[in-house]
Amino acid sequence: MLFLNEMPHPEHSWGIKVVTNINWGNSRISLPHTSDQEEFTFELALCSHLEATTEWVISRQLGAAVAHPGRRVIDICGVVPGSDFDTRSSITDTRIPERAVAGPAGVGTSVRRSNAIDGSPQTTEAAIEQAIAADFFTVENHSGHDHIRQTTRYPTEWFDRLIGIENKPDLTRPGDLTRQLRVDISLGLFNTVILATETHVTRAHLNRIPDAVGVWQFDSDTDDRTVIRQPAELKTETPGIELGSDHSDHTEVHPVSSKEKLRARRRIAERAYGKGWRNYTLPTCAHAETQPDGRPYCAKFDCVINPAQSCDTDCPEYTHAEPPDWDKNILRDTRSPWTHNPPGVRRRQSGLDRFRWAN
Ligand code: SF4
Repeated sequence: MLFLNEMPHPEHSWGIKVVTNINWGNSRISLPHTSDQEEFTFELALCSHLEATTEWVISRQLGAAVAHPGRRVIDICGVVPGSDFDTRSSITDTRIPERAVAGPAGVGTSVRRSNAIDGSPQTTEAAIEQAIAADFFTVENHSGHDHIRQTTRYPTEWFDRLIGIENKPDLTRPGDLTRQLRVDISLGLFNTVILATETHVTRAHLNRIPDAVGVWQFDSDTDDRTVIRQPAELKTETPGIELGSDHSDHTEVHPVSSKEKLRARRRIAERAYGKGWRNYTLPTCAHAETQPDGRPYCAKFDCVINPAQSCDTDCPEYTHAEPPDWDKNILRDTRSPWTHNPPGVRRRQSGLDRFRWAN
């Protein structure tokens, strides 16, 4: 027999209950509730809340380092639209590779395919293919050679600000939180950095969080968000310092130029635009459902789940079935500023003598 023995939270505002522990027969299973599960459900609840209450493009789990990509991952990124947002939306609903934007190909300048993006041939070809698929690059043949041209000018003002949010629902288990926040403040890729927690925030907590970091208390059951402390504005247009590994007597530091930061910010914004936050795979289980906002839900255990952690044949209630039918693109289009499947802006250019070729 199944017992749900701790259900401390009231009905969620979306009609969602949070289950913390489950007994299965004589054994106790951690199925829907591990610390990772808790962070996952908190993160998705906050993404959904921000999508519903702001005009931001919301994404999650994005690389936020420059010198050592992958060393820092921000939990949530909010991209605040800028004056060219509609132009950007009309190009493609996928990510435009930043290297395609920064490379020598332009609207009026085609370049040999091999020169279109800086970098090793192994990585540049994938980025070129992605830019072609996004309808940002087009291929022309001149004298038997492929040349690359941009289909439109890149709208550099399409985003105004980047908001970085680090989630730590339980501040009694802070882990590397303080250091992660110091990395963000020192580097200054985000205009503001915010810590979001479900814990009651005390003065002692605030004293351990860098002063520039804003603090939100967010209740993932009721959707209530309280601003405990406003964030400081960071200097995104000046050089920054990326903190590296800690050693016994020193910490590695890596200077990052303002140009590198500008490109990194554009890369983050593009990744956020292409990725969104519903980047999970729904389980092949008869009990799986989606909430109206797209969050994965288990009808059997009556809670939001992390399919990657909770849903496999180890789950005692796993019942093989087709995953729930959902269209996350339509959902995202309906609920956010992101536009699904825009018409595109490809120009069928004629009179090629108007343009300059470069080898
Ligand atoms: S496998 Fe099925 S029953 Fe088990 S947690 Fe996932 S959706 Fe629920």
